[in-house]
Amino acid sequence: MDKKTVYLGLGTNTGNKQENMRRAIENLSLALGSPIACSTFMESEPWGFESDNTFLNCVIAFSTSMPPLALLDTTEQIERSMGRTSKSLNGQYSDRIIDIDILFYGDEIIDCERLTVPHPLLHKRSFVLAPMCQIASHHIHPLLGLTMEQLLAAQEN
Ligand code: ADP
Ligand code: MG
Repeated sequence: MDKKTVYLGLGTNTGNKQENMRRAIENLSLALGSPIACSTFMESEPWGFESDNTFLNCVIAFSTSMPPLALLDTTEQIERSMGRTSKSLNGQYSDRIIDIDILFYGDEIIDCERLTVPHPLLHKRSFVLAPMCQIASHHIHPLLGLTMEQLLAAQEN
């Protein structure tokens, strides 16, 4: 079966953040197999909302034949199993024990009710672009036609 490289963005800003990251990676690996790459854990300030709790972020890549919506079911199930109760609604963000976003699914462009890929805000977020650059700096955004390196450089202008 055709395998795709998928990039997932992980974020956590409550509880033991190192431990939350470790558990999320372990759960993802049980579902998807060993990761093919993982960035370091990077600290960032809350984006789009006010909080005293800083984030830990990373990007992790898997090679998988799991279809996109099944992958979303899997990541949402892991979020719930780790105790995430609330969803972000209408761009209202809040503290979260774990957030798992599908950044890229191969070169596919997906736009349905539950899923937009590439993730619509990733090119505006250095907490996604910086870890992406660690593991796949030459990866090209299929809609923007720019590499992660170029997108990160544009951020810092
Ligand atoms: P956020 O990550 O923006 O804080 P949530 O994790 O609460 O928000 O997700 C809100 C909704 O975003 C989910 O119900 C999911 O269906 C939708 N969604 C759309 N595209 C994606 C994507 N690429 N990755 C993860 N969730 C997505
Ligand atoms: Mg999310």
